[in-house]
Amino acid sequence: MRLATIQTADGPRAAVLHGLYCVDLQATDPRLPASVRRLLELGPPGLELAREAARRADAVKHEASRVRFLPPVTDPRKIICIGLNYRDHAAESGAPIPRDPVLFSKYATALIGHDAAIVLPSVSNEVDYEAELVVVIGKGGRHLSAEQAKGHVAGYTVGHDVSARDWQLKKDGKQWMVGKTFDTFAPCGPVLVTADEVHDPHNLGIRLRLNGQTMQDSSTKQMIFPVWDIVSYLSKVFTLEPGDLVYTGTPPGVGMARKPPLFLKPGDVCEVEIDGLGVLRNPVVQG
Ligand code: MN
Repeated sequence: MRLATIQTADGPRAAVLHGLYCVDLQATDPRLPASVRRLLELGPPGLELAREAARRADAVKHEASRVRFLPPVTDPRKIICIGLNYRDHAAESGAPIPRDPVLFSKYATALIGHDAAIVLPSVSNEVDYEAELVVVIGKGGRHLSAEQAKGHVAGYTVGHDVSARDWQLKKDGKQWMVGKTFDTFAPCGPVLVTADEVHDPHNLGIRLRLNGQTMQDSSTKQMIFPVWDIVSYLSKVFTLEPGDLVYTGTPPGVGMARKPPLFLKPGDVCEVEIDGLGVLRNPVVQG
């Protein structure tokens, strides 16, 4: 199932992308919530209700080609990101292969959906792109084994870890978080594909195109820490909650590693594509 949050005249609504239409879940079945995070809190019975609603002949539909997609989860309690999780990207960054996942976070104010603009902050001259697979937590939990972690993943979506390299790497203390959580620096979507439809999250082609030119082209096979290990590791530290987002790192080809370095400029268009999950497109504007 392809879950989305769409903008409607009545506000943001949890929806299911069904063929050429988005079915507004709450308008179709008042038992269903307007928020995808709330839907995930209902667990498998909620997802089954959503599936049934999407199939109803009297479902309330919006044409997918005309609808505005917000981030699939608009209000996650946590956005956790993994750095240096692809071997080749660690190499191009001049960083050793990490022994433990490298963690940082973004805030929900950084989230934007498909087609929304990435805003270049006036205080940065080195804004870079990073294509990433995003894991969406379903059932919450703490102290999960890697095996248990599989049952706590609701699904996957396409993410973009926009990164101000000057703030990330050139400030005292190398503050990754601050370089990566400027407003609009967490594009996500357009849809959340439920885990039952993703046969193997560690065998997905992942690409980033800048103005149509392929800049990153790899596979999630290259991840150092697999999804289950990441979820298990995080759950040793804090309680995972439904709707939490985990950006799982980027493959090689980022702008800062190019010679000469290449950074985003106003008028650019970024597209992140992951096999089976879709294309997340965002234009770039000057703040
Ligand atoms: Mn990243």
